[in-house]
Amino acid sequence: MEQQDGGGGGAYELAQAYDFLLKMIIIGESGTGKSCLLHHLIHNQYKENAAHTIGVEFSSRVLKVGNKNVKMQLWDTAGQERFRSVTRSYYRGASACLLVYDITKRSSFEPLARWLADARALASPDLVVVVVGNKLDREEEREVGYVEASRWAGEHDALFLETSSLTGENVEAPFALAAKSILMAIESGRLDPEKAGSGISYGDRSLRRVGSGSRFSFSEMLPNGAGRNGGGLVQLRQNVKHSFDGCCS
Ligand code: GDP
Ligand code: MG
Repeated sequence: MEQQDGGGGGAYELAQAYDFLLKMIIIGESGTGKSCLLHHLIHNQYKENAAHTIGVEFSSRVLKVGNKNVKMQLWDTAGQERFRSVTRSYYRGASACLLVYDITKRSSFEPLARWLADARALASPDLVVVVVGNKLDREEEREVGYVEASRWAGEHDALFLETSSLTGENVEAPFALAAKSILMAIESGRLDPEKAGSGISYGDRSLRRVGSGSRFSFSEMLPNGAGRNGGGLVQLRQNVKHSFDGCCS
């Protein structure tokens, strides 16, 4: 298993304090660009001559979401059927999932329901799913429409956006979107990091308190002042096409 660290790089990353630790799995058919997407997130460049992923590869990255540092443990899985039993064993305890297809291959979009059912069955019960249509740079070869995919995601209680790991367009957005959605779920009390199997741990920067007033307020990071009772979550539940402007570092 290959391991990579990103987001500040090397020793600095190891020492970087974080508020929350999330486990995220990246799944979908082989050849959709999962490894390239992750490579772009970690190294800020396109991965030339990408080799097939064998089983599972691990990397990590700290994203800044509002005023919180979220360390994402990223598990990049092989899409090929022969690795399915290995990759499935990594779903357990994941709190977030990127479900990737290739916008130029309808055959990579059609099996999404099966991938999703698997993930929902094996990962955290509160799994946050982001459907990602990759290879946006090949617009002229598009076989899956934006509206169709966005509707599909909405019907399956998932977030949605399109990316290009070739040009780097939107590559941070699915990770940031998942992290933001999870932080908002914690803030609203729908998600409890202390619950076994939540896939979320407190980091060393967290101030843990006991009781009903134990939760942090993320309200300051929500758009348009949307807070605990505001429209922030509703907004995130809608499909998002554009990346966040500079919310991640
Ligand atoms: P994985 O099997 O899902 O991990 O897919 P890879 O990341 O290994 O990529 C599969 C192939 O698609 C490789 O030849 C990549 O160079 C290519 N690829 C990945 N992302 C993109 C993209 O955004 N645009 C284009 N044009 N090609 C891509
Ligand atoms: Mg791969």
